Amino acid sequence: MPELQDIVAQIVEEVRAEKDHGTASDALPQLAGADLDKVGLAVVTADCEVAVAGDADEPFSLQSISKVFSLTLALEAYGEDVWKRVGREPSGDPFNSIIDLERHEGFPRNPFINAGALVVVDLLLDRAEGDEADLVRSLLVRLAGDENVRIDEEIASSDASSSYTNQALANFAKSFGNLNHSVDSVIEAYTRQCSLSLSSRDLAKAGRFLMNNGADPEAGTILADGHSARQIASLMMTCGQYDGSGEFAARVGLPAKSGIAGGILAVAPRMASIAVWSPGLDKNGNSMLGTLALAKLSQRTGWSVFG
Ligand code: GLN
Repeated sequence: MPELQDIVAQIVEEVRAEKDHGTASDALPQLAGADLDKVGLAVVTADCEVAVAGDADEPFSLQSISKVFSLTLALEAYGEDVWKRVGREPSGDPFNSIIDLERHEGFPRNPFINAGALVVVDLLLDRAEGDEADLVRSLLVRLAGDENVRIDEEIASSDASSSYTNQALANFAKSFGNLNHSVDSVIEAYTRQCSLSLSSRDLAKAGRFLMNNGADPEAGTILADGHSARQIASLMMTCGQYDGSGEFAARVGLPAKSGIAGGILAVAPRMASIAVWSPGLDKNGNSMLGTLALAKLSQRTGWSVFG
């Protein structure tokens, strides 16, 4: 097999040459204006080899990828009790859909759709004294070993002012008694958490504990119960790309979580943590070139949870 660095560089070159780079999210003006030619790919292996190419050092907002890290904190704090508030089933609906919340009486299908993430934020607010996003930031700083992980305040304030659907989801959950804090405080913490910005290189580092049963090679124990880390990976596999999760599993075969800024965090258990960023999205809101890059990487390395 060629050197990992050569594979990574080659893949970035190939995906950049694609004709269709997808469409930037129009949810926020800061995302809508993104440069669709940007592609960053970073891989950190179990023995700490780092391979990066393209725009891997350029920061982007995590958006829904932040849900992996808030769920990590919630599982460490509450263990299996988390599943009394949120389910573990794929929804087959878009990330901000409200339909299932009505059908299941305020019990979100999983923690990676917006409704589920809002309930997880609500849980964490009990521990965070108001600053839930800073709790998530501290975890990312610890994992990435980089103090530069920051909340992009411009994205945070613009997201908060346009979050009518998320407010509807939070109100709905609250009307069924599945939100303890005020809708405003949950929305504020959630939008700040989504605005956490870091590079693909740092994100790949931050995902290492997931390939390793909850232990990070530098930061130490993140999830004391290895089962929790495997649960997160299983949810990434089944729910990480929303209504595109089945197609993604068939193409890439790795647990992964996407965000509407174009980032994807993927995990090859015991092998590598991978982060890719390219702002153009496909019809399900997942990075188009990012998904293609991961498909190529899994083919060329043989990394797949399906053997
Ligand atoms: N901040 C976005 C939202 O709440 C995150 C969604 C996403 O990345 N899919 O809608």
